[in-house]
Amino acid sequence: MGRLQGRLITGLPATRVKLRAGIALVRISFQIYKSPKQALKALLLLIRQRKRIHGNSRDHKIVRANDRYYWSIYTPGFPSDGFNAVIEREIRSAFHSSDAAIPLQTLILSISSRCHYHCEHCFEGDNLNAAEHLTYEALSRVVDDAVQNGIRHMQLGGGEPMLRFDDMIRLMKQANGTIDFWLSTSGYGLTPELAKTLRKSGLTGVTISLDHWDENLHNQFRHHTKAYQWALKAVKNCNDAGIITNLTICITRAMANAKDLMKYMELARRREVQFVRFLEARKVGNYAGKDIMLRTHEQEAVTAFYLKLNSEKRYNAYPIIQYPGYHQRKLGCYGAGNRYLHIDARGNYHGCPFCRGAVGNIEAMSLREAMGLLQEKGCHLFQTNHHV
Ligand code: SF4
Repeated sequence: MGRLQGRLITGLPATRVKLRAGIALVRISFQIYKSPKQALKALLLLIRQRKRIHGNSRDHKIVRANDRYYWSIYTPGFPSDGFNAVIEREIRSAFHSSDAAIPLQTLILSISSRCHYHCEHCFEGDNLNAAEHLTYEALSRVVDDAVQNGIRHMQLGGGEPMLRFDDMIRLMKQANGTIDFWLSTSGYGLTPELAKTLRKSGLTGVTISLDHWDENLHNQFRHHTKAYQWALKAVKNCNDAGIITNLTICITRAMANAKDLMKYMELARRREVQFVRFLEARKVGNYAGKDIMLRTHEQEAVTAFYLKLNSEKRYNAYPIIQYPGYHQRKLGCYGAGNRYLHIDARGNYHGCPFCRGAVGNIEAMSLREAMGLLQEKGCHLFQTNHHV
């Protein structure tokens, strides 16, 4: 283990990886459906679905990390059992969207209700506390439940999960390599030593919050004078330890323009970040009831920027952008117990971190029951789409 090798790959090497992944996809489809006709039909459905999601643009950037390849921060790397399981899930759900045995693609689990910061937009603002709400035993039961339900990808968040470092390490070890873990953190306190321990314990990737390219503006947003420095230190320490890095930005109206976004992407490229995630400001937590949602012209500016950076070859050296809002507007929501759900810092089940209105608590309800209830309830903002 150690520093990531390869990082972003493009051109012929990326084409070769796509071919290998395509062969794996065909093999899995034929294993599920013994009939070649059914298997080919499933593959065509998947290809059509991909085209609907991405339009005609080809994703020619792939992240290489520790001999695996990543198109997204939401799926296990290729090749791996986890990747095969996710492909199988996609193929099955293309045909049988209501099959109760289909596992979630990813589980978002808030393991801490404590935090050093008081961010303007915090979606867990109501749940932040001086003490933890959930015991280690309760979290451990959730990980067991996830493993038993075939979940192969999990995002550990908070509050600030680094404040529960030892518990987090135990939880990752408990999954015994069956789950790709990603950590969502402000970066505070993520030293080189802790980054190495995280990697040794099986952490695949880290999502670090950075809300502006400008140090002062990021610190103001996070209400902490060292927030910017810690975010960038965490990027370096994780890159050095061989952990994939993803910067996540809350896109406010002030940030929704090509000029600021380009400065942000320049910073990410210089820091050798592999992914950047655009999350639009949403009316939850500390932003509840405020007039903060992006307006149409701002959404259009962000969308045009996203499509340009991800598809034009002159931007090959820039990180891959993930922009869930773009796909949700186009195709509907794929959270809400469909591809993912969120367990908050009190143990309540939600459709996603931005879709509040719990259907139950981990103390009284299993993951499987919560998935069913959330699928019935759907997303409050976008139409839930069980076919994406
Ligand atoms: S957004 Fe994250 S870092 Fe900020 S206060 Fe909330 S939990 Fe803490």
